[in-house]
Amino acid sequence: MPPRLLSAEKRGEDVDTTLRPQSLDDFTGQAEARANLKIFIEAAKNRGEALDHVLFVGPPGLGKTTLAQIMAKELGVNFRSTSGPVIAKAGDLAALLTQLEERDVLFIDEIHRLNPAVEEILYPAMEDFQLDLIIGEGPAARSVKIDLAKFTLVAATTRFGLLTNPLRDRFGIPVRLSFYTVEELELIVRRGARLMGLPMTEEGAREIARRSRGTPRIAGRLLRRVRDFAEVARAEAVTREIADVALTRLLVDKMGFDQLDKRYLTMIALNFAGGPVGIETIAAGLSEPRDTIEDIIEPYMIQQGFIQRTPRGRVLTVNAWKHLGLIPPKEAEA
Ligand code: ADP
Repeated sequence: MPPRLLSAEKRGEDVDTTLRPQSLDDFTGQAEARANLKIFIEAAKNRGEALDHVLFVGPPGLGKTTLAQIMAKELGVNFRSTSGPVIAKAGDLAALLTQLEERDVLFIDEIHRLNPAVEEILYPAMEDFQLDLIIGEGPAARSVKIDLAKFTLVAATTRFGLLTNPLRDRFGIPVRLSFYTVEELELIVRRGARLMGLPMTEEGAREIARRSRGTPRIAGRLLRRVRDFAEVARAEAVTREIADVALTRLLVDKMGFDQLDKRYLTMIALNFAGGPVGIETIAAGLSEPRDTIEDIIEPYMIQQGFIQRTPRGRVLTVNAWKHLGLIPPKEAEA
């Protein structure tokens, strides 16, 4: 299967850094998070101390990595980056930690996927800026303590619920990111078009924004595909019509749903009479990993009021039935 256009997961083609905002003022949306971070950064700088550890929580593609990079820049310190699944052994993390200089930012993406043995090393490092290592084996083994520079851990997760309590408790600054409004995404699309030198009408930008599932990463990706289409069609500017034709051809519907989203909704509607249906059953029915469904498909549908998560499983709402062009059963109307 080709990679999904609308998946908010990171892909190589997204490493186009020209669109990445470089400062907090340049960063659109997440007003509350930005305002708070600004104060904490300012305060830490004035005191000449490392910023408290920060945890970003939210669906993929909303700007967690971007904000972490911006924070390092605004603090005037080095930025080092890794991710939970990449740190296989305690030694790998120890090597990273001992290279840090005072007040540096260490970014760990997908921290919920950290191996438990590695997580153990992280606790004293976060709390006391110390490494507790066991050197050697058997009777000759001894424990050594190494002092670390006072650094700031900035971590990101799509799943707050999968973090252990001791890890959660060690972050002084938890920050939740939410989906962007169409207006915010429109600003992001217009800024992107400007940076690409691509003429675009306001309605053109709004159409792309509407179909980007509240996610800047998807907005950037759709913008690049629409640009290809406009160039080949020799359009003078990206208008609403051009954006609509391009996105419809790419099978992105008016809500920003693609084929997999539609299979998800249709399956719950037709095979399970609108639910409730459990996540494992849905995953098996769609032949997709449960994580993809919970991280990528569902958060936006829940936010848009298309499905509800209940203790007995997922249930379609009236909105979803209408979107599918089907008549909702009596229960959905109630
Ligand atoms: P995450 O770490 O949450 O998965 P990223 O920080 O990697 O997301 O952002 C995904 C993409 O979206 C990047 O290309 C980034 O440049 C862009 N992006 C994210 N937030 C914004 C924003 N507020 N304004 C403009 N572009 C953004």
